[in-house]
Amino acid sequence: MKNICVVGVGYVGIITAACFADLGNKVVALDIDEKKIAGLQAGKMPIYEPGLKELVDRNVLANRIQFTSSYTEGLKDAEFVFIAVGTPSGVDGEADLQYVAASARSIADHIKDGLIIINKSTVPVGTGDWVSDIIREQNPDVENFSVVSCPEFLREGSAIGDFMNPHRIVVGSLDEDAADKVAQLHLPLRAPIVVTDLRTAEMIKYASNAFLATKISFINEIANICEDLGADVMEVSNGMGFDSRIGPAFLNAGIGYGGSCFPKDVKALAYMAEQSGRQPQLLHSVMEINANRRLMAVEQAKSLLESDDLSGKVIGMLGLSFKPNTDDMRDAPSVTIAKLLQKAGAMVKAFDPIAMEEAATMLPNVEMVDNPYTLAEGCDLLMITTEWNEFRQLDLERIKKAMNSAVLFDGRNIYDPKKMVEIGFKYRGVGRGYNGH
Ligand code: NAD
Repeated sequence: MKNICVVGVGYVGIITAACFADLGNKVVALDIDEKKIAGLQAGKMPIYEPGLKELVDRNVLANRIQFTSSYTEGLKDAEFVFIAVGTPSGVDGEADLQYVAASARSIADHIKDGLIIINKSTVPVGTGDWVSDIIREQNPDVENFSVVSCPEFLREGSAIGDFMNPHRIVVGSLDEDAADKVAQLHLPLRAPIVVTDLRTAEMIKYASNAFLATKISFINEIANICEDLGADVMEVSNGMGFDSRIGPAFLNAGIGYGGSCFPKDVKALAYMAEQSGRQPQLLHSVMEINANRRLMAVEQAKSLLESDDLSGKVIGMLGLSFKPNTDDMRDAPSVTIAKLLQKAGAMVKAFDPIAMEEAATMLPNVEMVDNPYTLAEGCDLLMITTEWNEFRQLDLERIKKAMNSAVLFDGRNIYDPKKMVEIGFKYRGVGRGYNGH
């Protein structure tokens, strides 16, 4: 059993805290957001993530996890402190490190001899060294501490499983003893442990996310070509994915990536490259292709409705979160698309199983409804924007009857084009050359 403090109880922090507690450690989860901490103390999770509440409740009962907004309390017994605060995009695309800096200063004020500071946030190469400097500057008396990089690779929606069964653990440090202790802490996860220097560990995270985003933009480019040439991108992905050099993951064509990681991380990596005088052409293309996906969705709606002017048209969006099984609305394609549809004159309604509360603040002029069938009522077009499982088995006859005209743009390719046409929909998926005809 180790004593651990996790700073930040957002998507990464609360999972890290709950999972380390479940592995038998004593964890204090800390956040400056007192509302989130009060919520957790009352059994309310700060995010929606499948299985999280059960996991937290179990470990609260076992006395292995507690919540605080006090650094004094959080660091009282800690041997390890994880930094898991946000690193959003700054004005020029750089990672904004204000939260990392603030947490480092607070840690410095409460540091004990031998503390190992583990950075889980995604941070630009060199940030680990910079955090060490901040700590020494803030607390010149501190002698013995270490900063280690241990980037997080979990995916929202399957975060607990991803955390508990990682493909690898990356540990970056020049301090062999600290690296060894952090590696030992992760041994129960039985994953390969890659020990490297700090800067390389920080780069592994950016390179991994940029590669996955590239795969998505790649298949979206192929989808465009499929549409022109009459091939079906779903079958192309399937045929490609069996090749072990390629793999099937991240080859789903659609309306592009969003969320709190890929957009900001590709941007931040491009910024880092530019700061060192490079022209990161591939990264720029990945971002441009992705931005165009949202415009493509709006163009498809106009083309299906046979008018550039969408005045008087009612469009229903099925799904709002940037991907299924999360309430995260950060940089969700649905937000850009809804605003563009409204700009073209459409009245937009939406349904999402989990994210509507979060989405309502970002889309005040979009009417949120209770279920897919109410959504369909009076719609001229339905658009699938998030591939929630529950949309896969809708009663499509009922949906068709409720709509003003049975037109569907499937931005996530969840339906079979031929069947949709058989039911009587004017249907279009993404990159499906024949589109049911
Ligand atoms: P988040 O915005 O959900 O949570 C960050 C939390 O940090 C917030 O609760 C905030 O109140 C808290 N915080 C901010 N400043 C603080 C301070 N000084 N002291 C204590 N708490 C403070 O962020 P997130 O999505 O969990 O991401 C955290 C980091 O992990 C980011 O760098 C992100 O890129 C990276 N990451 C995220 C994911 C993901 O799927 N969300 C996956 C892998 C890596």
